[in-house]
Amino acid sequence: MSGVKLTNVQKSFGAVDVIKGVSLEVPKGEFGVFVGPSGCGKSTLLRMIAGLEDTSGGKIEIGGRDVTNVEPAKRGVAMVFQSYALYPHLSVAENMGFSLRLARAPRAEREEKVREAARILQLSDHLDKKPSALSGGQRQRVAIGRAIVREPDVFLFDEPLSNLDAELRVQMRLELTRLHRQIGATMIYVTHDQIEAMTLADDIFVLKGGHVMQSGRPLTLYDDPDNRFVAGFIGSPS
Ligand code: ADP
Ligand code: MG
Repeated sequence: MSGVKLTNVQKSFGAVDVIKGVSLEVPKGEFGVFVGPSGCGKSTLLRMIAGLEDTSGGKIEIGGRDVTNVEPAKRGVAMVFQSYALYPHLSVAENMGFSLRLARAPRAEREEKVREAARILQLSDHLDKKPSALSGGQRQRVAIGRAIVREPDVFLFDEPLSNLDAELRVQMRLELTRLHRQIGATMIYVTHDQIEAMTLADDIFVLKGGHVMQSGRPLTLYDDPDNRFVAGFIGSPS
């Protein structure tokens, strides 16, 4: 069963081809990582999966359904960004439940979903606090909580840890792995950090210049890179 499937997906901005015919599949429930240098098209590809960017060609399927021309809110995806701007005047609980309020979900249902997300993210003791009273890691967890309450089939992460310091990044990597095991949703994670990719991924997709250079299990790419770029980027010494 396919979680997310791209077939010959293309994107041009004016005359510039940024995504050049990407085909790939992240199986349902797996953790897929798009890794590659800055400017290779990772965010553009993720935004197309989210529906925040039109495709110039190709097909996007989520859970076996063609969503290429479906509006973002109806794709069953939730995105977590690098700059996770929380509303400073709202509490943690209100921040996490905001999208449910916009969707006019009943209060009891909203509160239950926020409580459950807070439990998963170990934020239960912080629900009444304002974001300014939280640590950087806790704020990033609130941003992830905003996605969890929407119960998406697919979580999309765009470099969510790159604003955190090194120690916190290690801790959040472990938390993301735990979250994935616990929720079991399909996750696609974008990063330029090879170590993040190696430690988080079920499957890695190495991107360069709008192409997938190679994909596979982390150790397969490490031990058996197809080309010099993958070898250099994933960091096998041989
Ligand atoms: P990454 O996330 O891998 O760093 P991006 O997907 O942000 O890369 O960008 C890929 C390429 O597309 C870059 O060359 C960038 O300048 C270009 N690009 C991205 N968004 C736009 C846009 N809205 N208009 C024009 N060019 C864009
Ligand atoms: Mg990016």
